[in-house]
Amino acid sequence: MPAPYELVREELDQLLAGEPAYRSRQVWESLHLRVQRPEEMTELPESLRATLAAAFPPALREVSCQSADEGQTTKWLWSLHDGSRVETVLMHYPDRVTVCVSTQAGCAMACQFCATGQAGFQRHLSEGEIVEQVAVAMRAARPRRLSNVVFMGMGEPLANYDRVWSAVTRLHGEMGLSARHLTLSTVGLVPGIRRLAAETLPVNLAVSLHAANDRLRDVLVPINRRYPLGLLAEACDEYVKATGRRLSIEWAMIHDVNDQGNDAGELAQFARPLGAHVNLIPLNPTPGYAVVGSSAARVRRFRDQLEALGVNATVRVTRGADIDAACGQLAASVTLSRKGRGG
Ligand code: SAH
Repeated sequence: MPAPYELVREELDQLLAGEPAYRSRQVWESLHLRVQRPEEMTELPESLRATLAAAFPPALREVSCQSADEGQTTKWLWSLHDGSRVETVLMHYPDRVTVCVSTQAGCAMACQFCATGQAGFQRHLSEGEIVEQVAVAMRAARPRRLSNVVFMGMGEPLANYDRVWSAVTRLHGEMGLSARHLTLSTVGLVPGIRRLAAETLPVNLAVSLHAANDRLRDVLVPINRRYPLGLLAEACDEYVKATGRRLSIEWAMIHDVNDQGNDAGELAQFARPLGAHVNLIPLNPTPGYAVVGSSAARVRRFRDQLEALGVNATVRVTRGADIDAACGQLAASVTLSRKGRGG
């Protein structure tokens, strides 16, 4: 049985072939524009509502829903049809409401300091599973309007390119989200960045750099051995030239590993020619990485060093650390066993 967001428009047309001609569009718009569940579609006859609700159970079954930051951050743990588990995080800010979605169950990239990477890869998420995370967040954000989607949850979006891109297209075309408010984050998969450069929809790209010399990056972000910094810089340059969009660079600040003056110098050399903006994220603790994050004073010093070298940098405020919802902490199974929660 498909979940509602697994259907493409033509499939819905076929399924509702026996109904009046306007029904399919009505249901499609209820799903995407009004973000309703079938049982809430009160404009439909009650029998059809019940049939749809029975035929299309949601793809995401809630295992837990936790809130932090005085209700400004919510994290869901979902169970999927095959028992895989993924997480979604909704964040309210004064000027925007952002959802952070997962694109894979687990991740194959094995970045040392990332809880998802420590847990390994299970499978790609489908287009519908990605879109439904956004739909749930839209509903939960009410009465505010969900404005931003960041593909920074579990998984590597560019390793699941086709499904992620179909989801992006649907969020933009059917659910009214602006392409400029959609951000894909990558560990640096060069072929994916090149594909993105050729797309016409101008989404944002963030590259998780964390080290700007190959020796260190090979260790922190192992995919660097396949796509070293030289190749990555070329692909980023192609993206910036082709799209005219500003590139973001993510840099998790790790005490004594990548937070010194020489690190700032190397980062500036990478970032400046690309005109990239740097986001500094204090490293969040994860079970499999014993190194600690940089102190607030070191993060500030690093930012000042970058600014002095002509690179714009922002220190990201961590959200949801106490519910393991912060960057790099999403690891459904680890969370469960460590905290003893269950579904
Ligand atoms: N695979 C994609 C998207 C998911 S990770 C990517 O790597 O970009 C989202 C961001 O969180 C990345 O920048 C990632 O490097 C960062 N991150 C991972 N673990 C972290 C940790 N423990 N502390 C802070 N940031 C972390």
